[in-house]
Amino acid sequence: MLPVTVPPPKCLQKPLAVPHRHMFGPGPSNVPSRILEAGAKPVIGHMHPEIFEIMSDIKSGIQYMFQTENRMTLAVSGTGHTAMECAIFNTVEPGDGVLTAVNGIWGERAAEMAERIGARVSTIVAPPGGFFTNDDIEKALLKHRPALFFLAHGESSTGVLHPLDGIGQLCHKYNCLFLVDSVASIGGAPLHMDQQEIDVLYTGSQKVLNAPPGTAPISFSERACQKIFSRKAKPVSFFLDLSWLANYWGCDDKPARVYHHTGPVTAFYSLRESLAVLAEEGLENSWSRHQAVAEYFHAGLQSMGLKLFVKDNQARLPTVTTIVAPHGYDWKEITSYIMKTHNLEISGGLGPSVGLVLRVGLMGCNSSKSNVDMVLAALKDALKHCHRSKV
Ligand code: PMP
Repeated sequence: MLPVTVPPPKCLQKPLAVPHRHMFGPGPSNVPSRILEAGAKPVIGHMHPEIFEIMSDIKSGIQYMFQTENRMTLAVSGTGHTAMECAIFNTVEPGDGVLTAVNGIWGERAAEMAERIGARVSTIVAPPGGFFTNDDIEKALLKHRPALFFLAHGESSTGVLHPLDGIGQLCHKYNCLFLVDSVASIGGAPLHMDQQEIDVLYTGSQKVLNAPPGTAPISFSERACQKIFSRKAKPVSFFLDLSWLANYWGCDDKPARVYHHTGPVTAFYSLRESLAVLAEEGLENSWSRHQAVAEYFHAGLQSMGLKLFVKDNQARLPTVTTIVAPHGYDWKEITSYIMKTHNLEISGGLGPSVGLVLRVGLMGCNSSKSNVDMVLAALKDALKHCHRSKV
């Protein structure tokens, strides 16, 4: 036996230490003890019948959350990015046209993913904080004739809630699939996958659902499945190949499930519990709570003299608020002060909004007026104590 040359690390002799923190950035959000405890239940096999039953419950929960009857509904093992790649890698073949709506970072990322698999990518671009009319979208569909159109419902980098009505119908008029990112919006703002003719919809577990990061619900329409299952070549990723995932999640007609990957069973428990919490509250109640809390927050910010980054109040994302970075301050000093003094996370911008905004996420159980009061007090305190330049 060869000698061990790398000694056991000293740091691992100390017990694991994780602070309690108010998670009011754009995600992850706080996980309530009910959901944490669900994730602490015993590990059993990822192919055991009890797990298949839990997966089936998750599937029903996702169908409710997405408002869809799609049979091809499951949760990908991974974060929101995994679901993004699952959506794009399965629906897009090399040489296909892909159009992405860029009004923040997510349209840019979707474009990059499509480019990496050899799609012909085009974009429509709106300034950060802006969005697209159905007319803008129809013109772009006519010009580029894409096979897939990507849109972020909740643009968490800029704080925009994009209108969805009529876009699915437009996509279908031009024989194009409609892919929607709802990572930052689902459960916090109305969305109806079937009625709005969305072909592929995904989200993450760590925002409104208040589950730990690591599972990503996704659903495919019949139209999307037709394209996927008549592909010429297999998708580039084995892990994200929908025919394998469909079998693991019991969404195909095969008589038995075959081992594909080891499903993260404890993450499935938490996801199931988080979907149960949403189902208990009811979607309509969750949507109106997020909206009422966001309006209360926005009024409080404006009465402090702060400005909201998204001008059109109809287009403000109720889950993630973008505040114009206060003039004369260094935004990093504000976020670090609030973290240090108030044990509370808020964040700066992301991608095209870096330096322009502060972002506050109040999602799921975090969306309450008492949390708004806490954030407003922390912001007031930061503006009093952080350095302000006179120029
Ligand atoms: N899309 C949107 C709108 C998001 O807000 C995020 C997370 N910030 C993602 C995609 C990516 O999700 P994840 O970080 O879980 O990979």
